[in-house]
Amino acid sequence: MAPSVATAITLRDYRPNMRELLGWFDENARPLPWRIEKVTPWESLLAEIILQQTRMETGLPYWERIRSAYPTPASLANDTEENLLRLWQGCGYYARARNLHKLATTLDGKELPSTYDALLELPGIGPYTAAAIASIAHGEPVACVDGNVRRVISRLRAEHLSDSELQREATAILNHQRPGDWNQAMMEIGSLVCTPRNPDCNRCPLQSTCLASKSQNPEQWPHRRSIKQTHIDATVLVVFGEDGILLEAREGRTLGGLWGLPYAEDAGEIRTLLRGRNAERIGDVRHDFTHKRLNITVYSSVAQEGDILHEPDSVPLATLDRKVLNIHKGHQGEQS
Ligand code: SF4
Repeated sequence: MAPSVATAITLRDYRPNMRELLGWFDENARPLPWRIEKVTPWESLLAEIILQQTRMETGLPYWERIRSAYPTPASLANDTEENLLRLWQGCGYYARARNLHKLATTLDGKELPSTYDALLELPGIGPYTAAAIASIAHGEPVACVDGNVRRVISRLRAEHLSDSELQREATAILNHQRPGDWNQAMMEIGSLVCTPRNPDCNRCPLQSTCLASKSQNPEQWPHRRSIKQTHIDATVLVVFGEDGILLEAREGRTLGGLWGLPYAEDAGEIRTLLRGRNAERIGDVRHDFTHKRLNITVYSSVAQEGDILHEPDSVPLATLDRKVLNIHKGHQGEQS
């Protein structure tokens, strides 16, 4: 029986040329801070965690701020989660900050381990992060697979591959002399050249072996992962007075550990939230998380006896709450 197209492709058909890829990386890698100065494995870890879900331009100032506040895992373990969240506010995906604090506490004064297997044991570190630190900081030959590598390998093979197939392929083509640079080069190609919608094949050092580039539309690989976003109507109440704003400690996976304005989603909770407050509707805010869109109606009311008010800048707040406070500020400005 003739082999299928997929099984007929061998590594020899698409393996990136080592010299071309690493040569391209040496000449074209972006001058990111950790490529210009020597950084510790801990500082590399902070960069990996921040930049996994935050764009480079947004994430870099957070990395600078957090690494200078916490130069070692022990320095973070000796501080509170709330203080870390205060530095993290606006960066989103706050579970990362909570896990980072947990990781520093787990290390209990020790430095980060150096091997892939030991890193993987730590809270908040998955296969990608463990491989990035082990290969880039310690030269261990383990392959990183992030969204960029997924796209590049899928296109090199012109195939839709499962996660385990991608990991296997990334491991098979990994360069063992410079594993850290190889991993970074594959990710850099995905960021700068083999972009999701406009792969620039004529500028790509992998073109000679890339099967997708021989097709009319290389961007058809890999399948897009669609994210279903649910829409939620919510209400937020700004209770204000001379001493500040009524704020509550938030719980839950998305914003847990931060502080926020009183918030309600279902009709019963909203009635309870507004009861006895003589609240005035002052505007609307839309806020997107990856999996949900919040359409928020904003009310405000004057503080009553017993309300404990805080200065908003004294606690970590999510972007969502800062947006609502801006509406309140604008409304106050109109009234005065
Ligand atoms: Fe992507 Fe084109 Fe490069 Fe192939 S040749 S890896 S499709 S940019």
